[in-house]
Amino acid sequence: MTEFGFIDKLGEIFATIGSQHGFEGIGDDCAVLPLTGGDTLVFTTDMLVEDVHFLREATSPYDLGRKSLAVNLSDVAAMGAKPIATLSSISVPKELMGEWLNDFMRGYRDLSAEHSVALIGGDTTGSKSGKFTINVTAIGRCPQSCLKRRAAAKVGDAIYVTGSLGGSGAGLKDILDGKFDTELAMLHKNPTPRIAEGEWLGAQSSVNAMMDISDGIGSDLRHILKLSNVGAEVELRSIPIYNELVTLEQALSAGEDYELLFTASSDFDPLSAPFAVTAIGKITAGEGIKWLSDGTATTLEFRGFNHY
Ligand code: ADP
Ligand code: MG
Repeated sequence: MTEFGFIDKLGEIFATIGSQHGFEGIGDDCAVLPLTGGDTLVFTTDMLVEDVHFLREATSPYDLGRKSLAVNLSDVAAMGAKPIATLSSISVPKELMGEWLNDFMRGYRDLSAEHSVALIGGDTTGSKSGKFTINVTAIGRCPQSCLKRRAAAKVGDAIYVTGSLGGSGAGLKDILDGKFDTELAMLHKNPTPRIAEGEWLGAQSSVNAMMDISDGIGSDLRHILKLSNVGAEVELRSIPIYNELVTLEQALSAGEDYELLFTASSDFDPLSAPFAVTAIGKITAGEGIKWLSDGTATTLEFRGFNHY
């Protein structure tokens, strides 16, 4: 069973339980709860596990604290919402109780303060395995009219990404090669969630579908396509690659860039965005991704990160 096969199954077997509470649940970057009065709350949770998501010797506790929050705030931004609060649950080996954990929480606190996000609860337990784990739940809020769902892409939309891609993936390669402090490794260890960008894009009625890029667009764009029942053409020459040290494969499939991937109608003017936005393709009738190189169809082997 794959990660996404498991998630699809969860959606099926839990589909009707608790449906009276009015949540839109599994499948998007966040679950959605409409409030009376026109606003919406969104909820998401993401876990960082030692040796799966990070190597303790390769990262400072401060950066890890920031990243564990950043990846969750990114999912809130991906809905067009503003993050307002988090809960954090940690499993901590005894030898990290003290300076290490203080530095970790300082990183978490600094990023919380930068975005005025309250810490409202969590849980603290020991760890018999000697490994550190953190799970964060983030809550966001926005007007219902600003919500951007993965399922909302329309045939004819242009496909855009914020910022540039592949820097984090190339940084992970540096880390695995034992180079922990390169510019690219720092990008991987301390990603910037696109909070203001997500809120700004949420307010644009011409923006249709949106998600954040955690697994690489080779995988993430397929979620938008599947849920929207559409296909896509993507021009490889248009992919904004972080720099010349980064490969196209890393830009498409290494993931953890935490940029925003969105589709928008022709009313959207990318030059009106107060941040970098690049058009990489268009939404088509049909299914799956058709890769183009200078307009000519080409096949690609790599797909994106999957845990199994
Ligand atoms: P993201 O990368 O945006 O965090 P994921 O790919 O991790 O999203 O998850 C896709 C969807 O599946 C999300 O809606 C998420 O909440 C849901 N999901 C993943 N794992 C579980 C789980 N164990 N139980 C319930 N829902 C899950
Ligand atoms: Mg996401």
